[in-house]
Amino acid sequence: PAEDTILSVNNIEVIYNHVILVLKGVSLTVPRGGIVALLGANGAGKTTTLKAVSNLLHAERGEVTKGSIVFEGKQVEALTPNELVRQGCIQVMEGRHCFGHLTIQENLLTGAFTRRDGNAAIKQDLEMVYDYFPRLRERRASQAGYTSGGEQQMTAIGRALMSRPKMILLDEPSMGLAPQLQEEIFEIVRKLNEQEGVSFLLAEQNTNIALRYATYGYILESGRIVLDGVASELRENEDVKEFYLGVG
Ligand code: ATP
Repeated sequence: PAEDTILSVNNIEVIYNHVILVLKGVSLTVPRGGIVALLGANGAGKTTTLKAVSNLLHAERGEVTKGSIVFEGKQVEALTPNELVRQGCIQVMEGRHCFGHLTIQENLLTGAFTRRDGNAAIKQDLEMVYDYFPRLRERRASQAGYTSGGEQQMTAIGRALMSRPKMILLDEPSMGLAPQLQEEIFEIVRKLNEQEGVSFLLAEQNTNIALRYATYGYILESGRIVLDGVASELRENEDVKEFYLGVG
């Protein structure tokens, strides 16, 4: 039922530079409180799908030319990225995108830019972020550009949390991180989901880890969803094993 769905992407087509058709009718649904994985090889269209939702395609000369995107029951294609953040949906970009010359704490505070509820609430949320990421508390005065990849990924997620999102679009959280750090990041995703009720749509090339933490998965190939299902079932699917899990 619609009231249990936080995000639905309905048959969207995305074209870059007026000619390059990259998404050829993608549909997916994120249930409220769900963790949904969008899987696929490099270039399949995962980032494009997330950016279509958060309306970040214009900067890359991309546009949604068909279909609709509904967040919290409202069509959102016409919203700016910041308006969407105010509605409760925020993207954490691939490659983390911290401000290298700012401290970790300053980076986190930039995430509160859409809020109008005053400093006390923002300070309280900063503490909440530090409770989830004790390492960021320790390193809060360090310049982000000099921290590790894991710390930057934590900072990027922490920054998104400062907008008090209902939903986070998380692009390749595991990228470039050692396996143990990947687990740490995904454990925090799970905790945020369970304790704060944040819904997640996460794009991952690392099918293995994504399907261990997600509840549901979609597999994208050349701009089309070719398979979707409950995560535990996808993990047992022969094609997924052979082509995406490296076993078979
Ligand atoms: P990655 O793991 O690299 O992020 P992805 O699955 O997220 O892969 P996208 O980044 O969405 O894939 O790219 C999908 C396709 O769109 C690729 O073929 C890519 O070359 C193309 N593409 C992406 N951005 C642009 C752009 N600005 N202009 C033209 N083509 C683009």
